[in-house]
Amino acid sequence: MTILKPGGIIGIIGGGQLGRMLAMAAARLGLNCCIYNDEANAPAFQVTPLQATAPYDDRIMLTGFAQLCDVITFEFENLPADQLSYLATLKPLRPGVKALALLQDRLSEKRFIESLGLRTAPFAEVSRAPDARAAFAEIGGPAILKTRRLGYDGKGQAKVVSADEAAGALAGFKGASCILEGFVDFAFEASVVAARGVDGLFAAYDPPENIHENHILRRSIVPGRLTAAQSLEAKTIAKKIAEALDYVGVLAVELFVKRDGTLLVNEIAPRVHNSGHWTIEACACSQFEQHIRAVAGWPLGDPRRHANAVMENIIGAEADAWESLAKSGALHLYGKREARLGRKMGHVTRLKPKA
Ligand code: AMP
Repeated sequence: MTILKPGGIIGIIGGGQLGRMLAMAAARLGLNCCIYNDEANAPAFQVTPLQATAPYDDRIMLTGFAQLCDVITFEFENLPADQLSYLATLKPLRPGVKALALLQDRLSEKRFIESLGLRTAPFAEVSRAPDARAAFAEIGGPAILKTRRLGYDGKGQAKVVSADEAAGALAGFKGASCILEGFVDFAFEASVVAARGVDGLFAAYDPPENIHENHILRRSIVPGRLTAAQSLEAKTIAKKIAEALDYVGVLAVELFVKRDGTLLVNEIAPRVHNSGHWTIEACACSQFEQHIRAVAGWPLGDPRRHANAVMENIIGAEADAWESLAKSGALHLYGKREARLGRKMGHVTRLKPKA
């Protein structure tokens, strides 16, 4: 089993803000990161000199990258699984391809969640217009048609209230395979960010309540409205998932908390997660350090929270107010040059003493 020594190199596929914060956490531990991104000017490139810019299916560049690194991880899940399988033949890949391949398809993800005896919203596979109508008849409305692959922040999703709309939405996704999911009238949303080490030990952070606006995470609040029993249940769900995947690293499980108190699993992210950013200030070991520790084969850190926290994303032009944001809390800006609409430019975390 590969255990990195200080000075070792962790390869990170993906150079967004998550890769950037991972590289910063690694630096604190005396570990180096090499970032591989398919576009220049990636936020993570600004914090490490080791970097490669090439398409994610460029075998020659991937090979050179793997040769340089001691272990490889990734910061987003929409990567070609066959290329990651190839990388895994060259260096340890943590988490492994199994988790990525299973979770990047909403249908196999949902079936996996059900196979563990966990609850999800009702769902059905939809590949052709007749399936869309049949699925709507089965699930009822309102429902959400979601592309099986490549969706994020509400992209590749359409809310539908009739069988005709479901068929129309499928046509709008231009032949992409989909699932139809029952719309959940939840009380609120939550998530649990947790880690599993190479030794199989597990550590979970307190689950925050999450508030979305326009399908984008606006705020994570910890403690939120989850009861102690629900928090424990959320951590138990994450543990079950991490063990079933033989997972190494940080993962996040997004949850719907229903009005009757039941927890439904919405989706699983095989990576560090936006709803875990508050751990940088509110925990002794942040989710980023935790992921680095796990993939380096190091012991996991202490996930306990020493403060209450509210993390707020800074989206698009909101970043122009950086001066007042800097006064209001712990400010993180991701170094993105262009403040496009809906783009996550940074976040700010505000702490309060734990009651
Ligand atoms: P997703 O990409 O599946 O995480 O969806 C993004 C957001 O859309 C979620 O965080 C929810 O706010 C909303 N959403 C997704 N699926 C459902 C559902 N089945 N019922 C109600 N809201 C949903």
